This record gives sequence, structure tokens and C-alpha cells, in this order.
Amino acid sequence: MKAARRGAAPPGRRAVFVGHDVYRKAAYGTLHPLAIPRVEAVVDLCAALGWLPTGEYCVSPRATEAQLTAFHDGQYVAALRAASESGVVDPDLRRRHGVGTMENPLFPGVFERAATSVGGSIRAAELALEGCIAFHPAGGTHHGRPDRASGFCYFNDPVFAILRLLAAGLERILYVDLDAHHGDGVEDAFVDEPRVHTLSIHESGRWPHTGAVADVGAGRACNLPVPPRFHDAELELVVDTVVAPLAARIEPDAIVLTCGGDALADDPLTSMALTNVALWDNVVRLCGCAPVAVVLGGGGYNPWTLTRYWTGLWARLSGRAIPATLPSAARAVLARLSCDLVDDEDVRPEWLSTLADVQERRPVRGEVSMLCNEALAVGKA
Ligand SMILES: [Zn+2]
Repeated sequence: MKAARRGAAPPGRRAVFVGHDVYRKAAYGTLHPLAIPRVEAVVDLCAALGWLPTGEYCVSPRATEAQLTAFHDGQYVAALRAASESGVVDPDLRRRHGVGTMENPLFPGVFERAATSVGGSIRAAELALEGCIAFHPAGGTHHGRPDRASGFCYFNDPVFAILRLLAAGLERILYVDLDAHHGDGVEDAFVDEPRVHTLSIHESGRWPHTGAVADVGAGRACNLPVPPRFHDAELELVVDTVVAPLAARIEPDAIVLTCGGDALADDPLTSMALTNVALWDNVVRLCGCAPVAVVLGGGGYNPWTLTRYWTGLWARLSGRAIPATLPSAARAVLARLSCDLVDDEDVRPEWLSTLADVQERRPVRGEVSMLCNEALAVGKA
């Protein structure tokens, strides 16, 4: 791997933020973990900090039905579109395509939102091919299946980013998934594609209960199911011993990263214990592993920690310094957030006044060292 610079974007690449106002519309109904402010809060916080000048923000196009069927089943695409327009869940849509459930509810505009996420990831891949570092936080719907919704994901936008890179003639693509859940939909999509390697770091014992260390797909998948309370020093070990050497061996033409915020400490749906600073450092480092880099979002169910993570990630990718404390306009964005899954008394004061988490040095646990050894052993087998 080329020497990675800590604290700055990889040299010579302009960063572009891909977004859309569709994410401001209410979504997922009520009582769903994703019915919280996410991408729009990141845009508002970046704007409050003066970090989204014209020229650094790209409005996401919406994928057409023809584009969507490059991966998704035509019948599923048509059924989701029809249901999104009518507001009626056909029993067939629920049974065959997994839509209209508690997990993947039908809500007004679901088709436009999901298709925009795919269009944004295709555009992000194009911007990356033009030499930019593309940041598309509305991307990262890594559980979507060709013919069904899964794990809050209706389509699978990372698959489309990778397909766009392949269409441009790239020969070696590395997909790295840092969301707390296994990137099952992306791994499975490319199991028979020799040009794509996938690597997922996820919390063990979590839904979808796939991604065991022994799962290497057809030999190009690497899975690191890490224990609960996985922390910064352990991430550093995993990247140093498994991820960076894999990248050095593959020498990818492009890297696509899914950066779900549910790997952070204090996420209500998971038990990982990473700080945003460790994730920023490692995402920036991994972007330096390939000349083409696409950075996507993913899960994340604590709106304060998620908004701070992705806003700071944008700062790091675009070469901006992160202030020690936030100015009042930025604090106002964080003060407006709310979430049913986080009690008021658990909202920490620093979530409202700072971006960077405070890092604490903790010892690497033996089980994490063993996991790295196992991953290296099965990768060589
Ligand atoms: Zn997740």
C-alpha cells in the first residue's frame, strides 16, 4: 500500500459531496430506526460550517428503471414503483419482494428515494473515475437483493457503484464494508465476478448472521466478524494486518467503501465501540490505497453520532480542519435532532458541541488477534 497520510485527504483529489433534497422528506413511517434525520442533518451541519460551497456539492440523479434492472429483477422494480405510487401493498409484494413489512415498510416516495440513492452511487462512481473523491452518504444500502428488499434496503446502491466502475473497464475493485452489519448483498452480488474483492468488518452475532470468517465466497471475499465493544486499537490492528495487506496484494484500481455509522459507540442497534476519529483515519487511509475512491454511507441509528461522523468524514475527505468546538449555527443543527431510540438523558453534551470523539487507548483483546490470524489463514487456503 502506498504511504497513507493521516489527517488529510489523499493528495491531488478534489472531494465532491453527492446529495439530494429527497432525503428531507419523511420516510420509513414511524417507529422505524431509519425514521430519523440523517443525510439532511449532515448537509445542514456541513452548510452551517461553510463546508459545502458551490462546486463541491453535486445533486444526485435518480436511476431510471432501465438502470435499476442492471442488477434488480424487472418485476420487483415495477412492483415497488407501482406500490410507491398507489400506497397499496399487494400481498405479492410482501411475500415475493419483502416490501410492506415492519423491516422494509412501504412509505410515500420510497421508490424515488431508493432510486435516487442508486443514481447517486452511479454518479459518485463517475466522479471518482474523473479523479474526485466522491462522498455519497445516502448510499450504502448493502443488504438489497436482486428481487427483494432486505434489512431496510430496497435497492443495493453499492452494487451499482461497482458495476459502473467495471463498465469503465477497471479490472480490480476492492469493496470494504465498515458498517456494523455484514455487507451480504454486495458480497453475494459479486461472488462470481473475478474483478471484485469484498471485505466486511461487522459485529459478530448480529443480523443477517452471515459473514463468518470462514466465508470466503469463491475466494475473493474476506469477512471479519468482530466481537461486541470492538474499539479503535482493534480496528487499527485489523486494518494493519488484514485490510492493508489485502489492498497491497490486490493493488485495486478502485476502492468502494460503505461507512455505516452503526459501528460507532452508542449506536442503539449495535454494541461496537469505535470513535469517529478512528473511522475517519481509516477511511482516509483506505482511500489512499487506490487511484479511484467512492465513499458511501450505510446504517447508523443515533442521529447525533451519525451526523458528527459523516460531517467530520466530509471534512477529512475534503481537506478541512475539524474545529475543537462548534460555532453556534452548527450546534443549532445538532440541538434540533431527536430520536426515539436514544433517551434524552443519554444525549451527551459533547454530541451537541463538538465533532471529534475523544479517543481512549484500550488493549487489543486476544480474540481480535486470533480473528485476524484466522482471516489470513482462510484467505491463503
Ligand atoms: Zn448496519
